[in-house]
Amino acid sequence: MYNFTKITASIGPKSSDRKTIRDMVVAGADLFRINFSHDSGETQGHKIDLIRDVAAELGKPIGIIVDLQGPKHRIGDFETDDKYPLKVGGKFTFDDDNTPGNSKRVCLPDTDVLKSLRAGDRILLNDGKIEMTVDSATAHRVVATVVRGTEIWSRRGFNLPDTDVATNILTAKDRDDLEYAITKRPDYVAISFVQRASDIAYVRDFIAARTAHPIKIIAKIERPNAVARIEEIASAADGIMIARGDLAVEVPFEEVPAISRQIIRTCRMMNKPVIMATQMMATMVDSEFPTRAEISDVANAAYLRADSTMTSEETTIGINPVNVIDKMARILSYSDSDTIANPYDWSRVDNTPQNDWSRSVSSMAFLNHAVAIVVFARDAESVTQISCRKPDIPIIAVCNDAVIANQLCLLRGVSPVYDEQLYGMRDGFNTARRFGIHNGKLVIVDEDKISLRTLD
Ligand code: PEP
Repeated sequence: MYNFTKITASIGPKSSDRKTIRDMVVAGADLFRINFSHDSGETQGHKIDLIRDVAAELGKPIGIIVDLQGPKHRIGDFETDDKYPLKVGGKFTFDDDNTPGNSKRVCLPDTDVLKSLRAGDRILLNDGKIEMTVDSATAHRVVATVVRGTEIWSRRGFNLPDTDVATNILTAKDRDDLEYAITKRPDYVAISFVQRASDIAYVRDFIAARTAHPIKIIAKIERPNAVARIEEIASAADGIMIARGDLAVEVPFEEVPAISRQIIRTCRMMNKPVIMATQMMATMVDSEFPTRAEISDVANAAYLRADSTMTSEETTIGINPVNVIDKMARILSYSDSDTIANPYDWSRVDNTPQNDWSRSVSSMAFLNHAVAIVVFARDAESVTQISCRKPDIPIIAVCNDAVIANQLCLLRGVSPVYDEQLYGMRDGFNTARRFGIHNGKLVIVDEDKISLRTLD
């Protein structure tokens, strides 16, 4: 079964050994996400080495995404490890005094956050279980009213859905992590809590100042101000992740599906790949089967033509990460073939001048009932554009650059193959046969030339 919707597998304590990584690839994982929120340095670097080793053994491109923690806000410590009671309607103060907190106040270590808060802004602590509204704010002290929640304790994370936080997109930890990660040559770096296009430009410059390795940047969309600026962010980034974990805290949860659809549509129009992330098979942390609702969530990603789904805790700390990938791949391959049995001519909706070229490729394939598109890919751009027209047939991308092949792993419907000889031969028929296609029409794209050939 051809794999259209890609699978990005997060790896963690239960999935970082070579055998599990290998078995996850065999089960259907196309890319791995290494989350620097939970570890740094050599421990993470070792995972990258293992993935490269497995890719070499299997002779298969595999994408690697380094995910930086970003400016995840946390309150400071309290006097004891106890939980301190809160009263709805009561007052609570956040300040820059780094003495331990109590039931009336706590330190907010990031002074940029204190300076950014305004009266009326919401503060959501502990994944939204506590909600407060700011009554008054100065650069040193914020007084808020408790709207929801009964207790608070040390080091709780918090979200600020109404606040444009004037903070650097890379924390000190992110800088150290990125400096190190760059030396391991990942294919993508994912940036957390992006708020604006300039955040992407900043990280791009940071990387370019340290390496010529062409690392692509994925913007994680998890804040309302990033949703509002999705076009400028998608334009600056190389890909988007719909980070539904934090997103569902920062926006009303019922809006998450509609926002996800809108982001996927925007990405398609702007020729950017998009990953649907978080809690897709969450019950498989301790179960052998996904719920019916999870099955539908994964299938829906295929129906919406997302580029990739993503696992999180179910493969990092779950009881059986390989089983998660196996089940996800089964759902996707069935749903992908259903989308192909009921095709939709996506090329018609993308009526913008810059998409003319890829629309012709996709339309030629659609109108002639082609069975595959073969692209001799000098760079990722042409393949990305064709993939974003969602032609719903295999796109075989022959590359003479291993990095491009790894990066193309993210794209819907694209099977990258890194083979300098095949690339040099420019033989579309031979390429298709290597993918088990022995007859039917092929659209062959060789730089600017597009041709329709019949293989029989
Ligand atoms: C998310 O919040 O959905 C997400 C993918 O980010 P993280 O796993 O880093 O919290």
